Amino acid sequence: MTTATPASAATATAEGAGRATGPSAEELDGTDPLARFRDRFLPADGVVAYLDGNSLGRPLRQTGADFADVVAGEWGTRLIRSWDERWLDLPLGLGDRIAASTLGAAPGQTVVADSTTVLLYKMMRAAVAARPGRTRILMDDDNFPTDRFIAEGIARECGLELQWIPVDKAAGITIDLIDEALTAASGEAFGDRVALVVLSHVSYRSGHLADVAAITARVHDAGALVLWDLCHSAGSAPIELDAWNVDIAVGCTYKYLNGGPGSPAFAYVASALQNELDQPIQGWMGASDIFAMAEGYVPAKGMRRFISGTPPILGMLPMQGMLELIEEAGMPAIRQKSIALTEYTIRIVDDLLTPFGVQVASPRDSGERGSHVTIRHPRFKAVTAELWKRGIIPDFRNPDGLRLGLSPLSTSFGEVLVAVEAIRDILADTESAAEAGPGR
Ligand SMILES: *Cc1c(COP(=O)(O)O)cnc(C)c1O
Repeated sequence: MTTATPASAATATAEGAGRATGPSAEELDGTDPLARFRDRFLPADGVVAYLDGNSLGRPLRQTGADFADVVAGEWGTRLIRSWDERWLDLPLGLGDRIAASTLGAAPGQTVVADSTTVLLYKMMRAAVAARPGRTRILMDDDNFPTDRFIAEGIARECGLELQWIPVDKAAGITIDLIDEALTAASGEAFGDRVALVVLSHVSYRSGHLADVAAITARVHDAGALVLWDLCHSAGSAPIELDAWNVDIAVGCTYKYLNGGPGSPAFAYVASALQNELDQPIQGWMGASDIFAMAEGYVPAKGMRRFISGTPPILGMLPMQGMLELIEEAGMPAIRQKSIALTEYTIRIVDDLLTPFGVQVASPRDSGERGSHVTIRHPRFKAVTAELWKRGIIPDFRNPDGLRLGLSPLSTSFGEVLVAVEAIRDILADTESAAEAGPGR
């Protein structure tokens, strides 16, 4: 099977020997201060390496028992009384907990509700309405599809213009690109036209980590609001929403917060801005007096106004177990492990895969990188399918990107090594098969 190594690969590896030296996966796992957390996740039969926690985090061992407890207790025994006893406050209480452990935000500014997509709609729609007379939404052209689609819909709905900021897909959004776009959108003839800027903290494609503080300050200079999507950073990268002066943020909870498929998203709105924003899906659960059953809608003060209907209480359960782990480990240690994982990944990709023409499509400076590493090769679609058959699970992103997602609390260095060696073997096999010609 994996006998033939192409001559080019053998030479390059020999030349590169010594260049990529560093501690082995075994040594890194042995000295990892967070290693003990790996055992808190449910083992998956047949999975050799799980490198997709940036799309769907693993469940905890305790999650099944937690569900059974809620079904028997809060739901099964306390029944409707649980709304008063705990559930009505949960969207805000859990929001505060996410804020304290991962967002660098004081209480009273974060709510858990809806999907990321729906919260993005509610927040973008409220933000553009709060800047009347300004006619543009700025967004980079490599933002996640749902963010782009929601902005397109709002632009159409409100008669606004969507201005795309072109970015390098192997890099991400920078202060220079923002500066250029804002400058182009202002000027004597037009005045300041931008109402809202929508960006991702960590690019889902390249893993680029944006400079939120600097970009936010520049957007504020232009008098616009900024919405940061934190889907790929919450729980894996340090976030300081209050210190960075962020206006609005939205993020999902099933990636690095391990909330499970479809777990509800969170939204942050800076205190000073909350009562200025009117969200478009005004339902009874966001009204000032929920049980008044009053005639007209009056929004609640503060973050409760961003809730629309009955919140998905059961979907909020698994992330509470994960927050316990995050609180125990602390974000600084989590970030350190994340950097160690991405650095190790890039080191062995350079060593084992560049001979096959594989390119690293993530920033090489760890200060500009989130918790996944994207590598590129024209044959990665087929390679990913083969990896999945072998129980090695990264994901593929069009047109040629393979993402290695590294969840600091659940991923081992050993898993990374197994995956990168398997990619090398599959590339070597298919390369020698191609050399043997079409008759094979
Ligand atoms: C994962 C992700 C989403 C997902 O949106 P859902 O409504 O939860 O499906 C949105 N934006 C970004 C940047 C993401 O990474």
